[in-house]
Amino acid sequence: WSPEELEKNGQLLLSQLREHFSTLGNQPVTTQRSAQEIRALLDEPLPDAPQPFTEILSQTWDDVRPNLTLWNHPRFHAYFSNSSSGPAILAEMFTAALNVNVMLWDAAPAAAAVELTVLDWLAQMVGYTVAQDSVLVDGASLGTLYGLAAAREHLAGLDIRQQGLAGRDVPRLRIYTSDQTHSSIDKAAITLGIGLDNVVRIPADPDGRLDPNALRERLERDERLGYRAMAVVANVGTTSVGAIDPVEEIAEICAAHDTWLHVDAAYGGFWRLAPQVGPQLPDLSRADSLVANPHKVLMCPMEASALFCRHRDALTNTFRVVPEYLRTRHEDGSVDFMNYSLQLGRQFRALKLWWLIKSFGVSGLTDRLSAAAALAEGLRDRARSDPDWVVENDTPFPLVCLRYQPHDQELDPRDVDELNRRIHRAVNEAGGSFVSHTVVPSGYAIRVSIGNIHTTEADIHALWAELTTAARRCAVPRTP
Ligand code: PLP
Repeated sequence: WSPEELEKNGQLLLSQLREHFSTLGNQPVTTQRSAQEIRALLDEPLPDAPQPFTEILSQTWDDVRPNLTLWNHPRFHAYFSNSSSGPAILAEMFTAALNVNVMLWDAAPAAAAVELTVLDWLAQMVGYTVAQDSVLVDGASLGTLYGLAAAREHLAGLDIRQQGLAGRDVPRLRIYTSDQTHSSIDKAAITLGIGLDNVVRIPADPDGRLDPNALRERLERDERLGYRAMAVVANVGTTSVGAIDPVEEIAEICAAHDTWLHVDAAYGGFWRLAPQVGPQLPDLSRADSLVANPHKVLMCPMEASALFCRHRDALTNTFRVVPEYLRTRHEDGSVDFMNYSLQLGRQFRALKLWWLIKSFGVSGLTDRLSAAAALAEGLRDRARSDPDWVVENDTPFPLVCLRYQPHDQELDPRDVDELNRRIHRAVNEAGGSFVSHTVVPSGYAIRVSIGNIHTTEADIHALWAELTTAARRCAVPRTP
């Protein structure tokens, strides 16, 4: 494309996006087509002849878009609901146009400088201003892997980076966490050679929080048995119910056992900005490493996660490998981000955050997060005032786990599970709203995450109507 064609096609795309956003709320949140139908629709031979952009765009519009699950939809409440916002959408286009590779300072000087600034801003928003080593990564799963790799490297006297684990007299390393912790910790343990059997998942309390006494006892017992604690992982916002572990008490225990504390604040971290949530979050400054996801909370499109570390050089001591072809000059202030993770070639993902944070300002972001927290409170109020619904989780985050449990019927808990499963399915199949589920101590619960920039009170009203209608339809008729 010539620059003129780029402009012409870009305008075409932007006007389709205007149409998309203006009609988004009227579209089904997700497709009802089967996997096979979608595969058949989009399966085509490798194109030989060039195709005009207008055709490619209209095929994308007609065949791809309606068969997506629309994460930007105002009634998308599944998993962790987030949205992309205007400034970040355009920044993605700009970074692709510049095609910057933020691996070495010389390869992308101002991009590395913007990344440092953005990381500093994000650390302030999360309340982790002790960060000395930080990097933007694609997601919290890799952020956690890198944080735990740094923890492994930090173990005194083992020098695992150099000597590896195999064939040496190394104590068996273990990671301690609650049974509510995200599967990314397991994946990190697999990758780092720790092994799933050495991820000690301590049963959480009924509200999904790690019990510090149980943690202490387990660490002491395992020490006597010759295991070495590599890290403890604490959660600020568990995936299932948004539970917050007692991070400060856990930090005390980690200090007593000379163990690295990694905090998974992938979901919870940036909610600190919301006045309804922030005061209920623990002090995180004693964490050795921490992950927090702008792409879960900050109106930032996939992929953007921040990994922070309290120890200067902890990440670079873990990942720095400089072959001749990447040897470069150094000057005061220059940073080579390739040394902070496994990634060499790296997107300029800081730009979307830079544009986004500048466009909203912290006050704008705070207003949006506070509005989402208020909408969740409204949903909880509706459920609490209906005797047939139970709010199953206790969290300051806008994550509401609901279970339909007819108050005047004696039902077997397994039948209540099945009932909620059917309600969940019925709501999603109707296409008006999209929710996910979890399992809480009482059983199957419908999980509603609120955090999309487009969601309004009317959307929550609509969701509540869909839930109660589905419950009426799915419920066993009451005997007169
Ligand atoms: N930690 C928690 C608590 C999560 O809920 C998730 C994902 O939902 C992750 C980590 C993994 O995040 P990512 O998808 O950015 O890898």
